[in-house]
Amino acid sequence: MTVTSKFASAAVAALLVSAVGAQTFAAEITPLADETVETAKAIRDKALESDEAYEILASLTTEVGARLAASPKEVEAQEWAVAKFQELGFDKVWKEPVMVPKWTRISESASVVAPFAQPLVITALGKSVATPEGGVTAEIAHFATYEDLEAAERSAVEGKIVFISNRMERFRTGAGYGPAVKARGAGASMAASKGALAIMIRSIGTDTHRLPHTGGVTYDEAQPKIAAVALSNPDADQLVRMLGYGEAVSVHLDIQTTMEEPVEMFNVIGEITGREKPEEAIILGSHLDSWDLGTGAIDDGAGVAITMAAANLIQDFSETRPYRSIRVVAFAAEELGLIGARQYAEAHKDKDMDKHIIGAESDFGAGPVWALASNVNPASLHVVDKMATVMGPLGVVRSDRKAGGGPDVGQLARAGMPVMDLMQDGTDYFDLHHTADDTLDKVDPVALRQNVAAWVSFAYIAAEWPGYFR
Ligand SMILES: [Zn+2]
Repeated sequence: MTVTSKFASAAVAALLVSAVGAQTFAAEITPLADETVETAKAIRDKALESDEAYEILASLTTEVGARLAASPKEVEAQEWAVAKFQELGFDKVWKEPVMVPKWTRISESASVVAPFAQPLVITALGKSVATPEGGVTAEIAHFATYEDLEAAERSAVEGKIVFISNRMERFRTGAGYGPAVKARGAGASMAASKGALAIMIRSIGTDTHRLPHTGGVTYDEAQPKIAAVALSNPDADQLVRMLGYGEAVSVHLDIQTTMEEPVEMFNVIGEITGREKPEEAIILGSHLDSWDLGTGAIDDGAGVAITMAAANLIQDFSETRPYRSIRVVAFAAEELGLIGARQYAEAHKDKDMDKHIIGAESDFGAGPVWALASNVNPASLHVVDKMATVMGPLGVVRSDRKAGGGPDVGQLARAGMPVMDLMQDGTDYFDLHHTADDTLDKVDPVALRQNVAAWVSFAYIAAEWPGYFR
């Protein structure tokens, strides 16, 4: 295969003048070589025949399993990732340190005491404090939404266990998550500010199975910290029905957890080194940690597998490395608050963020990619459009939505890196997300191949095109 670097110096043909706010600027359009597009198509087609991503995912979820951030299992996952990058023959493999607080789930139980005594299926939210030893028993103060709790008088909440019952709506884009998840993130401190003893929320999930969804709680340091749990959807329905009888409903809640001092974890990074501009990199992001209930297959083992396999397919395709480097970053401790990605952005922001050419993240399960969004300069839009064309046969359309880069890679976007979103179909994602049901059998190998095919189309063209997206 001949290389396309001759175009690096031939980037003069056209000028694009664009108005951004009050300022007008002109930018050179760097052409994208036909050969680059043809090679991308060939690698795309190879990806559609490869089960490498599935094999990587099976390896991670079987050999490591659940990998709660800062736990010994995350350490195992890091060792697994280093070994996997090496086994796949990445040119460079390294780790960058991240300090992560160590939260541990010890035990959890809940039951209705009155009027209809029976057990409830719950799980502690990540980072939740414990209830006092022996648990708490109190009347439920029910709110339909977080906003209703926010508007409530202290007298309606004080001394009670708050219950927020809003149900997350199902969307292909996952758009129901944002409005619903507020109850999980901020509900505890809002309830505590009004004197609540604990908080129970309906799981942030779209399923009807009796498995609660965990996920992080974020405490406001100005408020007392109270225990926070999620009920499975059927258990939340059960409580709502009981409240419908018009009598006080009281619940006993006992969760035991610990929070220890931060420990050193690592972002694990594997790179295919570019032949012309090795110091410049395309970033393919995902996160290596998972919650402790399932085996983290869809969140985010799939993302780790898709990005690793995509980079590896590109390097396997030819002896020649792409024009610039492809860097696969498996971030640490995403679930505890994007800790690995924040650390990466901080460490690189003044050092070499300008060498981070463009990035994207796979962290929305294993559903097929259906749209491509970007946040790049106007002079590089023709390249993004061409990527979308290469992805077209995979069922991917060009989206005019502004890309955010995802939770982790979004941290790098804030530090100035251009990003793209390979938007996945998340219709079913929140049936499984953060539950014990997040296991390998839920992943469709055909959809996983399609993801890798979309990712190689993006990554190869971005790495081979000599122009810039910022
Ligand atoms: Zn995730």
